[in-house]
Amino acid sequence: MQRRKFLQAAGLSATAIVTQPLLAKEHKRALKRNVAIKPLTLCTWNFHRASAKSWEVLSSGGTALDAVEQGVMVEESDLSNQTVGKGGRPDRDGEVTLDACIMDSNGNCGSVVYLQNIAHPIQVARKVMEETPHAMLAGKGAEQFAYEMGFKRENLLTPQSKAEWEAWKITSQYKPIINIENHDTIGMLAIDKNGDIAGACTTSGMAYKMAGRVGDSPIIGAGLFIDNEIGGATATGVGEEVMKTVGSFLIVELMRQGMSPQEACEEAVNRIVKKNPEYANFQVGFIAVNKAGETGAYCIQPGFSYSYYDQNGQENRPASSHL
Ligand code: ASP
Repeated sequence: MQRRKFLQAAGLSATAIVTQPLLAKEHKRALKRNVAIKPLTLCTWNFHRASAKSWEVLSSGGTALDAVEQGVMVEESDLSNQTVGKGGRPDRDGEVTLDACIMDSNGNCGSVVYLQNIAHPIQVARKVMEETPHAMLAGKGAEQFAYEMGFKRENLLTPQSKAEWEAWKITSQYKPIINIENHDTIGMLAIDKNGDIAGACTTSGMAYKMAGRVGDSPIIGAGLFIDNEIGGATATGVGEEVMKTVGSFLIVELMRQGMSPQEACEEAVNRIVKKNPEYANFQVGFIAVNKAGETGAYCIQPGFSYSYYDQNGQENRPASSHL
């Protein structure tokens, strides 16, 4: 039988025949590298206080899940961070609406989208994961659930964000493309002393977005994905682009096939760049970690970095970029 015909008959393509053994080899090598467990935490941007909090939890023996939750809460509380939690910039109608998700090492996840009046959406996301049969709650239902769980109602619109929104309203120029300075979503990944991986992601989303808009950050697979056998990834930047390519899931799957975290982040950015000729006008950045504790980061525009903390201390690591 001719080779082509044989492949067709067997339901295989030439690519499958050639790449499968290579992938398997890479995968085995990646697993082999997984020797000593090294607790560590990394998060998007230079959020060194959040990173330090996360490390404090890990270094005192806490779980990766507690570390990422408590770490990102630092940014949710920081009123000067106008992209996360209380103090976040509102939508075009002046409403602050928050998105967050969390994922544990057993593959459980919880998410809240379009949540209003609650300062710590990541805690509500964790409650969704742990206290409900669901993975995601939205809007009024999420808010009601938060009150039932004992969260307090708070006004999230700070005087500064309100004043800026009022100034913006004068021209009301709706720019769905995020300015490259305007994206400080925190996505955090951690490995604890047991080698378990967890992640969290929280944001107020794009400033002056349309009412009802939800980005990638609370979408499992887009803004965050964890597979405890392989690693984790999280994103920042224009959520629409990350959702269209299911970026974080893609990175974890590429690592499963043997790519390093760095190679996988690069490939995820390349997919976006290939599909969108406007890529020079927006930012997307990914960070990733594999089970062996190797990290990677890549973005479209220069200027993205990530904060890393392990037993040797803290570092702000600049990410390489496509441009
Ligand atoms: N990814 C966030 C969103 O699209 C925003 C950002 O990180 O800039 O809502």
